[in-house]
Amino acid sequence: MRFSKLAEYLEKLEATPSRLSLINILSELFLVVEEKEIAKVVYLISGRVAPFYLPIEMGMAEKNIAASIARAYGVEREEVLRRYGQVGDLGKVAEELSSKLKIQSSKLEVSDVFNTLLEIAKSTGEGTVEKKVSALSGLLIKVDPISVKHLVRIPLGTSRLGIGDPTILDGFAQSKLGDRKNRKVLEGAYNKTSDLGLIGETLWREGQKGVEKLDVTVGRPIRSQLAERLPDPKTILEKFAGVAHVQFKYDGFRVQIHKQGKTVRLFSRNLEETTLMFPELIEGTLNQIKANEVILDSEALAFNPESEEFLPFQETTKRRRKYGIEEMQKKLPLKAFVFDIMYLDGKSLINTPLKTRMELLKKTIAGDEILKIEDRKDVILIPQPGEITDSVERVDLLFNDALSKGLEGLIVKRPDSVYEAGARNFNWVKLKRHSSGELQDTIDCVILGYVFGRGKRADFGAGALLVGVYDQEKDEFVTVSKIGTGLTDEEWREIHKRADKIKVDKKPARVNSILEPSVWVKPEIVIEVLADEITRSPVHTAGKSETEPGYALRFPRLVRFREGDKRPEDSTTVDELVKLFGQQFKK
Ligand code: ATP
Repeated sequence: MRFSKLAEYLEKLEATPSRLSLINILSELFLVVEEKEIAKVVYLISGRVAPFYLPIEMGMAEKNIAASIARAYGVEREEVLRRYGQVGDLGKVAEELSSKLKIQSSKLEVSDVFNTLLEIAKSTGEGTVEKKVSALSGLLIKVDPISVKHLVRIPLGTSRLGIGDPTILDGFAQSKLGDRKNRKVLEGAYNKTSDLGLIGETLWREGQKGVEKLDVTVGRPIRSQLAERLPDPKTILEKFAGVAHVQFKYDGFRVQIHKQGKTVRLFSRNLEETTLMFPELIEGTLNQIKANEVILDSEALAFNPESEEFLPFQETTKRRRKYGIEEMQKKLPLKAFVFDIMYLDGKSLINTPLKTRMELLKKTIAGDEILKIEDRKDVILIPQPGEITDSVERVDLLFNDALSKGLEGLIVKRPDSVYEAGARNFNWVKLKRHSSGELQDTIDCVILGYVFGRGKRADFGAGALLVGVYDQEKDEFVTVSKIGTGLTDEEWREIHKRADKIKVDKKPARVNSILEPSVWVKPEIVIEVLADEITRSPVHTAGKSETEPGYALRFPRLVRFREGDKRPEDSTTVDELVKLFGQQFKK
């Protein structure tokens, strides 16, 4: 496929205001893409040259991209930057400059562009900047203006068209399986591999049967299994037919550990590779894992080596950084509490019952005995197989024990359950600390826009935030609240700083809202919100249907930003909100 053809589709996708037409355009596109290019097309649509979880970035600063544009069109870099200052979009600046070249359509194939971009991403060492600048400008002089606009946005990292992964799967299903309702068939593979390119390639080559055979592999993150909420131990045991597998709930961050021989890779809750951030976890895995290949699920916590205490989340989270890693590692070394095993020496364990997985987990991780080895290595991975019980009192006791240890509570699991990648269901239930006398949980919301404030607030440009949750079925963001009070001036400044970078001039296609804020933003920033109650409301679109009102948050307040560990699609879902609403009345 010609790149210019792909660019025509990107142009259409960018302009469309509705999600259904996103799916239609995508499936039209997919009908004309061949097997050898489908993976590349899918990555390029997401503005990347690799699946989301691989940390392959273009590594080009704005000024170097401007230099490429300048070189391609024979103007000074300062001139490009001046125009950028006026237009605010380097893609458009390049488009305008290139229109003078009168290239109507070019012969460059998607693969040519993709391969050059991949080379740019991979080039390192001496003279890298020059190599990157000249490779990009080499592409720019060969393509038409529309292609130029979309091409420039890829290294800039601004080309996200706001197309969620489920929407791409809808497009696959509509074009290759006859109906977008067949997305479900593809979701299983997506949850196990997290790689849309791989799914595309397999679907094109082997059809639905091939996709169904895709299983977990070392090196590709598995979408995390998630927990539901229930109010107390008695309700949980009833739900579990009397027997529960109880584990402590640690409040750090989730780390999925992949080991293959001497190579260890780590992935976060939102599937980003974090291998370089936590060297001690790599070392711990190499020292303690007695198998050649393994995938583990764990929660990492910072540990104070002097007082031998685990630290609260606010401290642990300081470890999530790209620089000063060694220094932070000394100050706040991590331990990983390993609570699951999904793969062991050539065999996927996701369909093996929890009880058996826990037995394998114990056998696979060497514990205190490694302290006896002469060079006394530290125990860093701590297996958490938990215990099985049929007694409400025992669960209560463990819950209180957890609280007295400063932990968040328990995760109670169904003993015979399989590991359901990407699912949130009652196989896992979280039981959290009481706050203000009641069991409750926070809601993770996505900022969708903001409303200008009056008076003193106007200085910061914001009076209220329009926030939403995620509708998993429709792959849409729907509104639940306007948050006005409870934010400090400092928080407003912070939000403003972040939101201004992702302002857009019209409602994004995947946002469904009745309310119209002063400014729309791309749905990217996730915040944790505490509210008093969930109520029904006709003005909010979460869970709203033609006949039923939506759901809304009463007295919402900001708890913290969830950057780094949650993608917008990982925020609270409409389903969860409806369940929480139901639980309120039971109390
Ligand atoms: P979620 O991850 O479910 O979207 P969240 O980020 O708000 O929600 P919580 O609701 O606090 O997190 O609880 C779930 C998280 O608890 C898991 O994602 C995992 O990181 C952590 N966790 C800690 N201990 C365990 C355990 N024993 N089993 C499973 N998860 C655990």
